[in-house]
Parts: sequence; C-alpha cells; structure tokens
Amino acid sequence: MCGVFMHIENNNGASSKACGMQSLTELFKIGRGPSSSHTIGPERACKAFLARYPDTDALRVTLYGSLAKTGKGHGTDRVIEKTVAPIPCEVLFDCEQTDLPHPNTMDMIGFHGGVEIAKIRILSVGGGTIAFGDEAVAQIPNIYSEHTFTDIAQICRDRSIRIWEYAIENEDADFLPYMNHIWDTMKQSIQRGLRDEGILPGGLDVRKKAKSLFRNQHIDESPETRENRMVCAYAFAVSEQNASGEQIVTAPTCGAAGVLPAVLYYQQQKNRYSDEQIVQALITAGIVGNLIKTNASISGAECGCQAEIGSACAMAAAALGELFSLDIDKIEYAAEIAIEHHLGLTCDPICGLVQIPCIERNAVAAMRAINAISLASFLWDSRKISFDKVVHTMKETGKDLSVSYRETSEGGLAKIVL
Ligand code: SF4
Repeated sequence: MCGVFMHIENNNGASSKACGMQSLTELFKIGRGPSSSHTIGPERACKAFLARYPDTDALRVTLYGSLAKTGKGHGTDRVIEKTVAPIPCEVLFDCEQTDLPHPNTMDMIGFHGGVEIAKIRILSVGGGTIAFGDEAVAQIPNIYSEHTFTDIAQICRDRSIRIWEYAIENEDADFLPYMNHIWDTMKQSIQRGLRDEGILPGGLDVRKKAKSLFRNQHIDESPETRENRMVCAYAFAVSEQNASGEQIVTAPTCGAAGVLPAVLYYQQQKNRYSDEQIVQALITAGIVGNLIKTNASISGAECGCQAEIGSACAMAAAALGELFSLDIDKIEYAAEIAIEHHLGLTCDPICGLVQIPCIERNAVAAMRAINAISLASFLWDSRKISFDKVVHTMKETGKDLSVSYRETSEGGLAKIVL
C-alpha cells in the first residue's frame, strides 16, 4: 500500500518511494492560475466532491494553514464559488488551527435540504494534486517502477535509450497526444501573455511587462542581451497570465509555470526545433519533476520556493540537455546544479499574490537553467553531488525552513508593505 493514511492523488509521502512514480499526466496539468495548490487543487477538490455527492445543494468549505493564510490573495474562495456554482457555498478561513496533516488542508461539508450529508478532508499537496482523508476513492497507480535518477539512468544506458523514450515505454497510448496538447497550451499562454497589457489583479498595482520586454529593444543590443530579454519576456508572459487567473500548464506548479515554456519557446524560435523535439524535451523535464515530486516536494507550502522555482529550473535545464542531445550525465548534472543553487529559497509572496517575487523569479530561473546546462556540459566529469542526493537535501532544507517562509506570507518580502 503506497498511501500514507489516505486515498492519494499524491506521491510526496515516504511510502511512495518504495512504489515508483505516477504518470507525468499527474505532473503537467492545464488549469487556471494563480496557484496550483490554492486554485487548481481546490478546483479539483470541489469537482471530486460534487461527483461523489451529486445531491449536494449547499456547501461549506473551511480552509486551513497556508490555504487560509494566503487563500484570499490567491483567490481560493472565488475559484471554489465559481467551480460549485450555482450551488451556494460558504468559504471560511481558519488561520488558527495548527494540528493539520498538510499545510494546505481543507474541509468540505455538503448539505441537502439543510441536512449535512457528507464531510471530507482534502489536502492540496502541490502541483494541483489532491489527496482525500479517507480510502474511498481508488488510488491513482504508480506506473513507473523506478523512483531514482540513478536507476532510470542505468536503464537508459543499458538499453541505449533517451529518458523520454524510457517514459513513453511506461506511459499509455494517450500520453503523446496529451503532451502535444500540453506544449500547445504552453505556447498559447506565451502568445496571449505577449499581447496582454494592464495591471494585474489583487491591488499591488503591478503592471504587466511581458509585452514591453518583448518589443522594447535596446539600441545596439548584443545577441546575448537579446537572448536574455526574449527568454525573460516569455517567462513573464506565462507568469503574468497565471497571476491574471488565465489558463496555464503546471510546470511543475502554477507559480513556477513560466520557466520551462520560456526556455523551450526561445529555442524553438531561435533554432527551429520541431514540436516533436520540444515534446521529447518536455517529457525529459517531466521525469525530473516527477522525481522531485516523488522524493521531496514541489509545494511552496511544504518546502518553500526551492521546491517550486528550483524544481522548474531543474526541469528546464534537463529539457535543454535533451534538446541539445547531451548525454545523461550532463542532463543529470544540469538538473542537479539547478536545484543546488536554489537550496533554501523561501516562499514569501507579498499579500499572498503570486506576483512579487514570483514573476521575476520565473525569468531569473529560466536564465539560470541556461547557465546550468552550459556549466554542466563543460564540468560534468568533475561533479561530486548526484541529482538524487540534492533532491534529498532540498527536502531536508524545506523541513528546516520556518513556516513563515512556506507560502504563509508571514515572513521575508511578504512583510514589506507596499
Ligand atoms: S515565492 Fe515561489 S513558491 Fe512562493 S508563490 Fe511565489 S513562485 Fe510559488
């Protein structure tokens, strides 16, 4: 039994390690921002609750932990009300309760004719993944037997296959069409974001900048500066769409959704890689993200921003390695570098909005992914730390982070009043 204490659409628990990994379709999800934990997760929770209890004619949802502390800024209540409409729903924010199974916990109570008919505890465990506090729903199976980079790399070496080929062998027939749809959605987010203008919602008065970054060329701009500006413009485009509550792909989360598409879109524009090649790179990135999700966490509420932006950076670095046809050691090293240099990164969004520092951070991480693959391709044979070890370290570091720095908006930048 892989689940720790519940039906699980989750694989952050230690017991999952012994059981492999879930499909990459559980990692890459299409949904509305701004937060996979705070909007996509609760949205899926509401749909799952109503599917189970279709007689529900009124709902009460209580949000706890990080969901309560930053749920207003993330618009969790609005998403819940919109998802269950026209069923009336009361959303309560309980910031006092500390004895919780997960930082993102919610209780849902359904009523029919004024009588309580069901009560379920649901955890939003990161990346839009949810877990139920009972055993009533079938567990999503782990379809990969392996759960470490070391083991996967060994299989790839033994059989002379790429990481994406290993993934396809484990996934089902619908997987490639799904991944093509994921790439199409990522491109649409970038293209919409580059056209968009105005002020982001939430009251921080943050202006959307992707369009001006994309268009405003410096006089005598060097190719390096142009590359920097383009990659950042694409990362801003997706992150601003996310902050606006528009559709994005979790990669691995909403808050970090801009990093991976930015580096891949730039490469496609510059070097004309085919969609097929980009999708192969996306799949390689997915394996890296899945390993982090399985063995550590991709949730800012659980392990800070190192788990979101650090993971996205590692995925982007691995994707570039695949695109450049680098061997598996260099891909591993690039992903390791990306995590290593995000260790300890805190999650402290101002007013609980996924805007400051999140949007700029996506752009910086996209550039770091390019640095990581470049460094790895030169220095791979002198590396000392494996990807699996740095993922373990990230989890340990996350546990040591004060709760103020785990998506509660109680510390760091979040204390600055704008
Ligand atoms: S600071 Fe990082 S982890 Fe926290 S909401 Fe922003 S992007 Fe996500």
